[in-house]
Amino acid sequence: MELWYTENHTDNVKFSIKVKEHIYSKKSPFQQIDIFETYEFGKLLTIDGLVMVTEKDEFVYHEMISHVPMAVNPNIQNVLVIGGGDGGSVRELTRYKNIKKIDMVEIDEVVVRSCEQYIPQTACKLNDERVSLYFEDGIKFVEDKENEYDLIIVDSTDPVGPGEGLFTIEFYRNCYRALTKNGILINQHESPYYERDSKEMKRAHRKIKNVFEVSKVYQFHIPTYPSGHWLFGFASKGIDPIKGLDANKWNALGLKTKYYNTDIHVGSFALPTFVKEMLEDETV
Ligand code: SAM
Repeated sequence: MELWYTENHTDNVKFSIKVKEHIYSKKSPFQQIDIFETYEFGKLLTIDGLVMVTEKDEFVYHEMISHVPMAVNPNIQNVLVIGGGDGGSVRELTRYKNIKKIDMVEIDEVVVRSCEQYIPQTACKLNDERVSLYFEDGIKFVEDKENEYDLIIVDSTDPVGPGEGLFTIEFYRNCYRALTKNGILINQHESPYYERDSKEMKRAHRKIKNVFEVSKVYQFHIPTYPSGHWLFGFASKGIDPIKGLDANKWNALGLKTKYYNTDIHVGSFALPTFVKEMLEDETV
């Protein structure tokens, strides 16, 4: 008998991965969490039936969410990660000696504990002494923060369920206030390809553009997300992600990466015409 994990990428497109074993399944107060052992992608974490992380391609997502802002401002010391329960973003951030504090605010402790047990590849650095874990709603957490973080990474699920409020203008305003003068906001920015995802992408961009002086979008290729074409947002109070990049300085750190390099840093902000047009569309 063959076992397959299947996700509907649209009503008319399905994506399937052959499964060796369904190793974990739990309904938390917030969402349904499953972990599978697969033939091609290693361990696979899904939340509410959507791929979050696979061992084979998580490096793309986690390197691009963390090294892009760190290369623009290597003096970042205080970081807030919202979501990110698999631990992959924190793992990459802990590679920077300059960082003094990483607060990770994940609404669902079950995601963290299940990843610690079954996906240590991503959850391996959550016990770093600079990391504090808060099992709270990230939306609430930032409400009373001011001038506190040099970097906020919103490593969230899609804007449904508990992740919905992480895509609102109030939340972006609170992040702005929580950031220092040279602070950077990076957010999971959905995808331009299928309509369901591109609608959210356009909405998020319009809101962030309203709040931040600089609001750019960059892309990466991740095989297990719908269409494989995915985006992060880069927003700041003035720092530009390309003019602000000091490639020599980042390269001198000697960090070994599999996807990120300072050429792809610059290239990832060059967007296809259809994506540029979507981002300029003010009617959403
Ligand atoms: N790489 C992933 C992706 O884009 O598919 C995101 C990974 S991470 C597992 C997303 C996490 O965000 C989940 O563990 C979820 O519990 C958390 N999350 C959703 N809404 C949240 C909220 N309001 N506050 C804090 N964490 C939240």
